[in-house]
Amino acid sequence: MPKILGLNKERQILPLQGGTLPGGRQPCNEIYHLFASSNQVLAVFSTRHFDAAKDWKRFLESLKLPSDHFSTVRQVHGAKAVTASPSLNPAGDLEADGMVTREPRLPLIIRTADCAPVFLFDPVTPAIGICHAGWRGAKAGIIERTVEKMKGEFGTSPARLEAAVGPAICVSCYEVGKEFKNDFPNFVVERDSRYYFDLVGEVKSQLYGCGVPEISVRESGFCTACSTDRFFSARREGRETGRLLSLLMLK
Ligand SMILES: [Zn+2]
Repeated sequence: MPKILGLNKERQILPLQGGTLPGGRQPCNEIYHLFASSNQVLAVFSTRHFDAAKDWKRFLESLKLPSDHFSTVRQVHGAKAVTASPSLNPAGDLEADGMVTREPRLPLIIRTADCAPVFLFDPVTPAIGICHAGWRGAKAGIIERTVEKMKGEFGTSPARLEAAVGPAICVSCYEVGKEFKNDFPNFVVERDSRYYFDLVGEVKSQLYGCGVPEISVRESGFCTACSTDRFFSARREGRETGRLLSLLMLK
C-alpha cells in the first residue's frame, strides 16, 4: 500500500484542491500526485505508460502543460544542483542531478528507473527542488547539495521543507556488495550472507540530517523492481529499459 499522504487507495491520481485537475480534466491512473492537497505546487511521477525518452511531450500535455517549457538536466549520478530557468539549459544537456527554482510555472523534470526521485517543496518562500539519488548520488551528497542550494538561493529553511521520495528500488530487491556497508553503515541489511541496500531509508535519513522534520518526509511506498508491470526497473529489466518521469512545479 502506498504511503504517500494524499494518495488514494485505488492508487489513482487525486483531484487537486477544489476537486478538479488542471484544465478540469478527469483523473487518470497513469500519473501519481504528491502533495495532492497543495494549491501551491504540482508534484507528480509517471508509470511506464510514459517512457521519458519518447513520451515526455505526451506526459506534459497530459498534465495540460506546454511541451516546450520545462527544465531538465543530463543526469550523471553526481552531486551538482543547479538553479533552473527556461533559458539556462534549453537542450537539457547540462550535467547535474538536482535543480531548484522559485519561478512559477516552470516544471523541473528528472528521470529514474530504480534510483530515487526526491521532491522538495518550501511552501513559505515558496520554492522547489528536485533531485535524482541513486547510491552514487546519495554517497556523493546530492540531497544535501540540493537542500543547500535552496538555502543559499532562496533562504529556504529545511525545517519548513516538505519532502517526498518517489518510486525507487526497495531493500528486498537491491542486493549489493558487502562494501556498501562502508558507505551506508545504517542502511545495508545482511541476510543469509547477502547484502541489501535500503536506498529509500538512506535518502530519508539524509533528509532528516539536513534538518527536514521526519513528519514532513513522505515516500511513495512503490518499489520499481517489485512492480515492473507499473514502473521501469534498470536492475530487473536491464539498463536499456525506459525511465519514469518525475515533475515538480510551482503553480
Ligand atoms: Zn522491491
